[in-house]
This record gives sequence, structure tokens and C-alpha cells, in this order.
Amino acid sequence: MHVNFKWEPEKKEEGRKGLVFNIQRFSVNDGPGIRSIVFLNGCPLRCKWCCNPESQELRAIVMFKAQNCVGCGNCEVVCPTGASDLSIPGKIDHSKCIACGKCVDVCYHRALEMSGKWTTVDELIKELYKDTISYRRSGGGITISGGEAMVQHEFLEELLQACKGLGWTTAIETTGYASKEVLDKIVPLIDYFMMDIKHIDKDVHKAWTGVSNELILKNAFHIAEICQQIGSQYIIRVPIIPGFNSDPEVVRGIAKFASSLPGVKDLHLLPYHDLGSNKYAMMGKDYELFGVQTPEADYMEYLKEIVEYEGLNCKIGG
Ligand code: SF4
Ligand code: SF4
Repeated sequence: MHVNFKWEPEKKEEGRKGLVFNIQRFSVNDGPGIRSIVFLNGCPLRCKWCCNPESQELRAIVMFKAQNCVGCGNCEVVCPTGASDLSIPGKIDHSKCIACGKCVDVCYHRALEMSGKWTTVDELIKELYKDTISYRRSGGGITISGGEAMVQHEFLEELLQACKGLGWTTAIETTGYASKEVLDKIVPLIDYFMMDIKHIDKDVHKAWTGVSNELILKNAFHIAEICQQIGSQYIIRVPIIPGFNSDPEVVRGIAKFASSLPGVKDLHLLPYHDLGSNKYAMMGKDYELFGVQTPEADYMEYLKEIVEYEGLNCKIGG
């Protein structure tokens, strides 16, 4: 493989754009080495515990911070669609908003901010390239997260190819909810594949995430086969959500399933947290899991033993 260690922006017409809602730099929890995490918009799931609700739609979204608002009304005056409306909860009617950003520009109290920016692969690589020395020295690289990044599979493919061309390692955090055609082009570009299995029961899965798990479980095998063929690491991750899947027998069932996947040796348990709950209010939405507690450390250790009993290496967190 030809590897360039110096990136030069290509002199070409502006390429395909993808919607990115965050870049988190210097992460050490989302794959090997020091990594930048690129968060892409769009997701077919609606998990009740989602900590990035602003990512779910494939569109930029205005977030409202009530504590900063002084009620000056500037935002209402400039809004071309009537979406900015101080009389409604959350202050933005997202069904009318076209994400023009005019309200954000005139909000001098920083009560409004735009989440999500359409960007080209070149623009994104230019930003990520600032940390290329850290990636190279630590064996790190880029982790793609979301949302469900495979919603924007054409942009994702271009981005991964560019990362590979620079010699950066690639990782993904995914729901595994994608077509076989998309998996066949994306999985071979990933060095470190992290996929959620949230529940084994399809009806419970659907009640808490909005979709059945049948496609996800089927894809889990297909991804395992590709990862084995190309020598990529494949890790199953289980967010532990009290009331949904924290029961020992549910975790045992997921661990049994994971251990049946060809080549899978690692399962990570991710304890529930409510760090994204404030974003729901910023979008004028209710957070359904309000009051749910993070599982105790001792309980997570107990679940870890259950996973290990099924023959897998288990880690709590990242
Ligand atoms: S412009 Fe900002 S501070 Fe003024 S009413 Fe709108 S959101 Fe509140
Ligand atoms: S982004 Fe544009 S359309 Fe949306 S609320 Fe603000 S001014 Fe109105």
C-alpha cells in the first residue's frame, strides 16, 4: 500500500460534503493510541438513553441554552421562517427551522448555538491533520462515531480512504444497523471495529431503541467474517442501561451471542450515564430516563465476571 505521510489539500472542485456535529481531540478511550473522534450526524435508532440526541437527524440543529437567554427577541426578528418563537418550550420550532443560523448570529448572549456543520473531506482532513504527530507516535488515528456514521456512507468511505492514505489507523463506533452493501465497502477500511449489541430480545430492543435487533445481529456475523479476513480487531460493546439490559441474564445472553461470533474475544461494558440529558431540554424535548442512576461499580464488576465466564475478555468502559 502506498502511504503518504504528508497531506496536501488537493486542488480540485469542492467534493462531497458530510454533516459533522463534533470533533473530540486527544481521546484515549475510543481505540488504540491517541485519537480524534469525528461525530457524524444521522441515526436510524432512537435509543432512550442517547447522549447525543442532536445527532439523530441528518440536519444541523439550533440548540437553546435557557440559562443564557435574556428575552431580547433579536432571534425572532431575524428568523425568516417563524421557527424562532420565544413562546414555545425550547424556543425553536424544529419543524420550521431551516438552520440558516441567522438567530445564532444575533444572539449576543450565547443562548443559541448551531450543532452540525456540512464539511468536505478535505476540510475535515485539514483539521485532523493538526494532530497527525500524536497519531503517528501513539499508534492512534481517527475514530468515527455518531449518530450512526454509516448513514452517511459515501462521505464516510471517502474520509476513511483519506485517513488510510495518510497512514492513520481507523476505528468506528457503530450500531451495526446498515445494509450489507454498505458494510461490504466500509468494514474493510476499519482497523478497530466497535459495535454495540444492546439486547438479544427483538421486542425489548425495539421498545427501547425504535428498531428490532434482527438486522444488527445478522450483521454482527457478517462483520466478524470480514474482520477475520482482513485481520481487524472486532469489539462488542454493551451499554448497561438499568431497566433495559442490566439484568444478569440479559448480559449473559449478549455475552453468549458475542462469544459465538467468529474471532470475537473482547466485550466492553459501558455503564449508563446521563451526561447528555441536558441536551434534550436544549432541543425542547423530554429526557425519558430522568432519575435513572449509573450502575454501581460493584455491580459492573459482577456483570464483568458473567461476561468472562462466557470466555471473553471484558473491560468496563471505553
Ligand atoms: S437572541 Fe438570544 S438572548 Fe435574545 S431572545 Fe433570542 S435566544 Fe434569548
Ligand atoms: S436557524 Fe434560521 S430558521 Fe432556524 S430558528 Fe434560527 S433564524 Fe430561524
